[in-house]
Amino acid sequence: METESCTIYPAQKVLVVGLGKSGISAVKFLQGLGADVRVSESQIQEKIDPQTLDWLTDEGVLLETGGHSAKVFLGADLILVSPGIPLDIEVLQKAGKAGIPVVGELALASRYLRTPTVAVTGTNGKSTVTTLLGCLFRGSGKKVFVGGNIGTPLTDYLAGPQEAEVVVLEVSSFQLDTSNNFRPDVGVLLNISPDHLDRYGSYEEYAASKFKMFAFQNEKDAAVLNLDDPEIMDRMPFDMRSRRYFFGADLSGMNGITFREKEVLLSNLVQEEKKKEIYDLAGTSLYSTANIQNAMAAIMAARIMGCAPEGIGKGLANFKPLRHRMALVAEINKVRYYDDSKATNTGAVATALSSFHQPVILIAGGREKGEDFGLLNDMVSNKVKHLLLIGEAKEKMAHTFAPLTRVEKVDTLGNAVNRAYEIAQPGDIVLLSPACASFDMFSSYGHRGEVFSKEVLDLLVRSGKNNKAATMTTNGLGENGEIVSLGHQA
Ligand code: ADP
Repeated sequence: METESCTIYPAQKVLVVGLGKSGISAVKFLQGLGADVRVSESQIQEKIDPQTLDWLTDEGVLLETGGHSAKVFLGADLILVSPGIPLDIEVLQKAGKAGIPVVGELALASRYLRTPTVAVTGTNGKSTVTTLLGCLFRGSGKKVFVGGNIGTPLTDYLAGPQEAEVVVLEVSSFQLDTSNNFRPDVGVLLNISPDHLDRYGSYEEYAASKFKMFAFQNEKDAAVLNLDDPEIMDRMPFDMRSRRYFFGADLSGMNGITFREKEVLLSNLVQEEKKKEIYDLAGTSLYSTANIQNAMAAIMAARIMGCAPEGIGKGLANFKPLRHRMALVAEINKVRYYDDSKATNTGAVATALSSFHQPVILIAGGREKGEDFGLLNDMVSNKVKHLLLIGEAKEKMAHTFAPLTRVEKVDTLGNAVNRAYEIAQPGDIVLLSPACASFDMFSSYGHRGEVFSKEVLDLLVRSGKNNKAATMTTNGLGENGEIVSLGHQA
């Protein structure tokens, strides 16, 4: 394992691979340090934003487009990869063999990040918890930078005056693979279930990448871990030196945080306080199966970082659910339609299905990522009354699920929504929770969710006046923030 701090020297030849948002931000940061920056981008020049091209030309940055060449890679002293770049491409392998360090933006943190940091990883829930932590710190009156794998790249912050009191980073497994000796003050690991198996050699390799978060932590640092996830508890390395705090249903005397109905309880507290603290999630947008876990993890991390309970309470109340994550779109003829387009793996779909007690008409499919759909067998047979399949994976999914429920393949998401409308009985749930990436039919999961919502809202208009659209990106909240309950948590 690479353990050195990653220091950038003036005139050092640094190759940035990938010219997305994080690549552009990295170029700016490296230039600020006086590096001799080059860029290699697989897209052809015509596909790159002309303003970006002009800027790179003005800055004298050498740009390779339309592919990656060994000459450019082997001519670098250091290679900085964007998270989307697979590490097994031939030119990176060659560079690695030639002894050229290959790092990502997190590797720069140990040398250049001067602000206390909370980092959040896991298969599902990272964006929700990262965003929620931002709210909790703001509610506590702290100046916070929120970024990493979500929103703003870390190098944007590194390039600036670093004026935040705390940094919250969403961290993907891809980023952890190139993080060198990254060491967050608090690392949060939410859950591990199969994902991205098209990029990892095995599930073991993927799961191991998540623990890189803690590899360089010492006794002063903290790890916040999901006690209810056996994939975490069974794989936790014996030599982890971090102080450990847990969240889950039954703490059995361990340090951490648990829940009871709508309340989250912190016990055996941080900083020598022994009394219990209670956070009421009723009336917030966080009272749902997944979000109770997310809230526990975020509250625990915020508390460890010194936020007071009052500030955390304010932050919880201010949190607005993110779009396309179990968002209620509308109720039509007593059938509720949920957009969970961000559920691109089986773990997220299982959590979504477990939230409902009513029969579910599930719309799924898209581009598969190498997972075993059979992991959903129990959930599908217990919860799904009708499965509507779209996209590249529909044949494979139909093969897996046909013995378990009624399965129908459809051509478009619009047809799936219309078919769901025909089948649905009052009290049913229609859920878009695809278990697949969106790129076969849409530009992103967001685009897929928008198309779903539009189709549902069109149905709403056609279906008469006794029906209503959700008044916000609700996750089941009504107009006044109350939980709209049909006997489920969602
Ligand atoms: P990530 O950034 O890890 O992809 P998101 O917060 O964007 O996580 O949520 C992705 C998907 O996972 C959504 O479908 C959401 O409903 C679901 N989800 C959110 N939190 C959790 C959790 N703690 N456990 C399981 N699924 C979750």
